[in-house]
Amino acid sequence: MTDIKNRPQQYFGATRPIKNLGSSRDFVRIASLGGFGDVTQNLFVYEYFPAGNEAQSQIIIVDCGVGFPEDDAFGVDLQIPDTKYLEDRKSRILGIFITHGHEDHIGAIRFILPILGKSIPIFAPKTAAAFIESRLVESQIRANIKVYQNGDLFNVGSFTIDPIRVNHSIPDTFHFAITTPIGIFYHGSDFKFDVFPLDGKPSDLAHIARVGEKKVVALLSDCLGADHEGFSPSESSIAEKFEHDIKTAKGRVFVTSISSNIVRWGQAIDYAKRAGRKVVVVGFSVTKAIEIAQTLGYVNLTDADLIPVERVKNFADNKLIFLVAGFAGQPNSALSKMVMGKHKVKISSGDKVIFSSPDYIPGTSTSIYTLIDTLSKMGAEVIYGEEQEIHVSGHGYQKEHAILIDLVRPKFLLPIGGNFRHIKSYQTMAKNMGYRDDQFIFPDVDSAVTFTSDGKVDTKFHLSLRKVLIDGLGIGDVGTTVLRDRKTLAEEGMFSFVILLNKDSGKMFKEPIILSRGFVFMKENTDLLDYLKKEIIRKFAQVTSSPANFDFIREELQAFLEGLILQKTGRQPMVLPLIIEV
Ligand SMILES: [Zn+2]
Repeated sequence: MTDIKNRPQQYFGATRPIKNLGSSRDFVRIASLGGFGDVTQNLFVYEYFPAGNEAQSQIIIVDCGVGFPEDDAFGVDLQIPDTKYLEDRKSRILGIFITHGHEDHIGAIRFILPILGKSIPIFAPKTAAAFIESRLVESQIRANIKVYQNGDLFNVGSFTIDPIRVNHSIPDTFHFAITTPIGIFYHGSDFKFDVFPLDGKPSDLAHIARVGEKKVVALLSDCLGADHEGFSPSESSIAEKFEHDIKTAKGRVFVTSISSNIVRWGQAIDYAKRAGRKVVVVGFSVTKAIEIAQTLGYVNLTDADLIPVERVKNFADNKLIFLVAGFAGQPNSALSKMVMGKHKVKISSGDKVIFSSPDYIPGTSTSIYTLIDTLSKMGAEVIYGEEQEIHVSGHGYQKEHAILIDLVRPKFLLPIGGNFRHIKSYQTMAKNMGYRDDQFIFPDVDSAVTFTSDGKVDTKFHLSLRKVLIDGLGIGDVGTTVLRDRKTLAEEGMFSFVILLNKDSGKMFKEPIILSRGFVFMKENTDLLDYLKKEIIRKFAQVTSSPANFDFIREELQAFLEGLILQKTGRQPMVLPLIIEV
């Protein structure tokens, strides 16, 4: 691989006209129902219009994932792609093709399948299929899942889908070469090229090169790692440090990661066993993932290695490792509950907590750092992040992108799966490889990209996407976000307090004002309310700063009050801090 900056300029597009296999009025439209420029809630629609006929279009879907709502969507669990565009085209959907088993690529299937039709075939690789299946069983949905592997080829309608093995932070990750009558589209979702992959299966570069020898119209490429130079570190590179961290721990060890990272759980289990520790699995999603990993042969775990959480008291601290769900600080996860004192297992000083997980997931970053801060304050030793060599990115860096571009040699580049800064870095890099500005496609968040058989492209078609939020109870538009709040209110009431705050000084203007509904009778519980007011003032003094960080104060006070009220009253009202700048 030559250095990309020193390469002679190559104008791939100019020398590679698209071969026209269909009618001159054929076109292909690609839409992102989660929105272009979004990292999560992946759902791409490839739609072929024979002779430009709208009523006869053929559709395949690539991926069907959830997103994580931004911080201001208070109380909402998940966001899913807006499928309105597909709802009156249901009969033309030929299949859903899944690239890999991450939640932001498969998590919306259980919500979207009942809308679009349960009989739509879902093509998924082994690991993803196992995760999809386990989720669909919970939702009591029977789906038509077909498991594919490297080398399979699918002809559906006018499309041919050719899955190509790549590496990522979950085994069985694939790209797709999608052949249509107007040319080939290369769908390069999340990937890296790992020379030492932990599952022993390297990316199939020869296969990619074979696709690149034909005429590829566009490369839709993951770009999340494009702002990093060189190659991404191998998954194997953390092994030594990870084992050392477990081996040298004096007390209990807690490991948290993305639940679906079954290779990482396998590593933790192997190292724990070598250090003479028993394994305790905590949290629904990790329990499920480890069951799947056992079935697929990714972990080596017998009943003798496992301890149910009820029996941990019988073991010395240095004989235990906990594999815990909730690295992203999700409020209902096992780890958050442990930190807030709402779980059987409590984390205390002397414990070591290893976050073998990304510290950037859009919409969750503040929660992750709040969790790490709180654990550190509690006296636990916290190990996290790429600097501490306990996590490597599952997304390729610049040189891996350069290799992919070099092999695929597309006419157009359409970066996906990244925010604007990643897209910009990707563009700069590709320009160094000889790509011209008019070969980049930058659709608006809700525009679709139309490719015509005469080699033209435009982004004029708009879908007007809505935000679709899921709150654990149902599916709907923004209006339903109140559903869960309403449930909590009905059952447990509400405890709210208003703090008037000077942003620059970080000082409270006067004593907090307490508002409570349906939680306790205010008049009869003045002692409790006075106590809570004092505690709010005391906690506020600990978490404020100058200038004040409103989000941090709000989150800290909320978590603190939830724990305190539960402890004092056994109740879990909705706690709503209102911090107003004066
Ligand atoms: Zn992924």
